Amino acid sequence: MNAKDVGPQPVMLPENWAPSSWHRCTALQQPTYPDADALAQARAELSQLPPLVTSWEILSLKRQLAEAQEGRRFLLQGGDCAESFADCESGLISNRLKVLLQMSVVLVHGMRLPVVRVGRFAGQYAKPRSADTETRDGITLSSYRGDLINAPAFTEAARLPDPRRMIEGHSRSAMTMNFVRSLMDGGFADLHHPEYWDLAWVAHSPLAQEYQRRVDAIGDAVRFMETLSGESIHNLNRVEFFTSHEALLLHYEECLTRQVPRQWGWFNLSTHFPWIGMRTADVDGAHVEYLRGVRNPIAVKIGPSVTPEQLIRLVDALNPQDEPGRLTLIHRMGRDKVEAHLPKLLECVRREGRRVLWVADPMHGNTESTGNGYKTRRFENIRGELDAAFDIHAAAGTRLGGVHLELTGEDVTECLGGARELTEVDLARAYRSTVDPRLNYEQSMELAMLIVRKRAG
Ligand code: PEP
Ligand code: MN
Repeated sequence: MNAKDVGPQPVMLPENWAPSSWHRCTALQQPTYPDADALAQARAELSQLPPLVTSWEILSLKRQLAEAQEGRRFLLQGGDCAESFADCESGLISNRLKVLLQMSVVLVHGMRLPVVRVGRFAGQYAKPRSADTETRDGITLSSYRGDLINAPAFTEAARLPDPRRMIEGHSRSAMTMNFVRSLMDGGFADLHHPEYWDLAWVAHSPLAQEYQRRVDAIGDAVRFMETLSGESIHNLNRVEFFTSHEALLLHYEECLTRQVPRQWGWFNLSTHFPWIGMRTADVDGAHVEYLRGVRNPIAVKIGPSVTPEQLIRLVDALNPQDEPGRLTLIHRMGRDKVEAHLPKLLECVRREGRRVLWVADPMHGNTESTGNGYKTRRFENIRGELDAAFDIHAAAGTRLGGVHLELTGEDVTECLGGARELTEVDLARAYRSTVDPRLNYEQSMELAMLIVRKRAG
């Protein structure tokens, strides 16, 4: 490590690291581009395009995550399993923002804690796959790896990896970011405008009353404070929103890794908060090599097969200085595995005194297929894993500091159960995901309210 003691904050630069050093390691889940010149051309172009986020936003998020590690904030991270280029559309984006904002209001009010809002969007375009190929009716083609890489249609042309898609992904991410920033600046989240907070089509839901009570109580509190101080409270529309995506396609991430004036080191400026997926979290692999060197806060998905020894090696590789806010561990065990696998991991990180933010992803360990051929998740399992995670942390003397969810602001029918008790037959009505099943608007709000009840004991 080389200590550098100039600049706003002295930092230790990682040794033997460069944005391209991942090429030395085994890179899983990467496409094989058929045309090396086309890849080089797309990489050169992408490296010139402006970044999507700034280093000061990234460092602000890192400070907030450091506070979450100390129990002074709660992280809400959510969005689609994978965005698609076609879904870069105003209604879908604003509905997704709305459900995340409404959930965060419920969490802030119920937990009495500020919430760090992080969207799984504006760049969540690449997907790890369990198999490299897919066979239908005797025909075998490359798997669909997300719109950043190829297209979902089952034709040879659609499945061919195309590096130009990285340029398109950057543009769609920029458009999404631009719209999200405008909505935030325009008062979309202003607590003085409760009409933005209505529950739209779920108004008749059994949950609507509880939600309305919370919104009314917040309105009362704002008016009370304004009466006390004799003036209007500003900044109530200044809600911050951060972006995240799985840093999977390393050519893309590398080209958006930049140095910025008056800051040491390198930042991934394609997103505030990149994460490493479960399938690419090998400590010797290319994804860990790449992410260890950027100054962003980063997260890693931790599945049931990870051992305490492996986990500590990962923590050492990704946060050797034990820097506050740097590392988030997202456990995704499954309802039936969480009790057996989580406690020993919590225990070893606690024993080693390592600083991490623990977050629960109750979605990815609970995926199943129905008899009628849908990939789905049961609300009861999602809720059950989350409840169990809160209890396991409490027993271990650690803290569950956030949740990571796959959700949408639309009235889809992809997950079973919830207040409306969606059944397998309902799945056919509005199943839209091309990848993993998401909580719909109502199921998402229900989960937020259940988290608050659980935390309240
Ligand atoms: C995901 O978040 O969509 C995903 C694939 O998760 P995991 O890496 O935890 O399987
Ligand atoms: Mn997913």
